[in-house]
Amino acid sequence: MKSSAEKINKNTEVSYLDAHLHLQDQRLQAQLPSVIARAGQKGVGRFFCNATSEDDWTKVIALAGTIPGVIPFIGIHPWYADSVAEGWRERLCLLLEQQSCGVGETGLDKRCPVDFTRQVALFKAQVDLALQYHRPLVVHCVRSWGPVVDIIEQEFAGESAPPVMLHSYSGSVETMRRLVTAGAYISFSTRLLGRDEKKIKKVLVETPVERILLETDSPDQLPAEWMAKGERAYNEPMWVADLYHQVAQLKKINVEDLKVSLWDNGKIFTHAAASRR
Ligand SMILES: [Zn+2]
Repeated sequence: MKSSAEKINKNTEVSYLDAHLHLQDQRLQAQLPSVIARAGQKGVGRFFCNATSEDDWTKVIALAGTIPGVIPFIGIHPWYADSVAEGWRERLCLLLEQQSCGVGETGLDKRCPVDFTRQVALFKAQVDLALQYHRPLVVHCVRSWGPVVDIIEQEFAGESAPPVMLHSYSGSVETMRRLVTAGAYISFSTRLLGRDEKKIKKVLVETPVERILLETDSPDQLPAEWMAKGERAYNEPMWVADLYHQVAQLKKINVEDLKVSLWDNGKIFTHAAASRR
């Protein structure tokens, strides 16, 4: 029997996808052409590039205009929820009207010192914008699963809702199941390449392939032992190829089949980002 990878046309554009990263970050900016070239050499050809604050929005959109395969997401990260400038919402609306882009990264983080009520207000406002403009949403969630799952179940479970991903997933198997039932995608980061990530590896094994995405979150989330060796100062998108191989092993599937499945999952986000309604 032919695998699904063999069945698809050899000429298709399928490549490894880095489903969450920050190419606009200073640490990558300094050597961006070589970072992208190294990713290309390892077969990584699509990058979901996320803003974290308003300062990033035009940078992320400009990167999408100059580097092939970059899909822009603009939003405000919960760490910056208390430092937004007045009128941010109107300016975000204007960009969503003018540009093909998703909303992110946004979310809730109980580990950071920003007032949680403020985080919830910013998160809800961005959820509303994703729904209003029918754009994919990228959610950062740390120790805030109750309110995040509630919002996803209430707002994104319907057939007509835009796609939503939980980036760098760190929750339980039970929470993953609720999110998957509500239609969400679960993105696992290169942290999983680390030796001691037993809990999250167990979640990955239980997550259906049709809901998985993989990411580096570059320049962050370099696996702990790589950092300890001191060979690399930061993460970069080429490492998502290694993550695909690791995940194929853990899921006991062919890496080419995984690549095709995850490309299809990513396409749902790419298409929703490009749809201006
Ligand atoms: Zn991120």
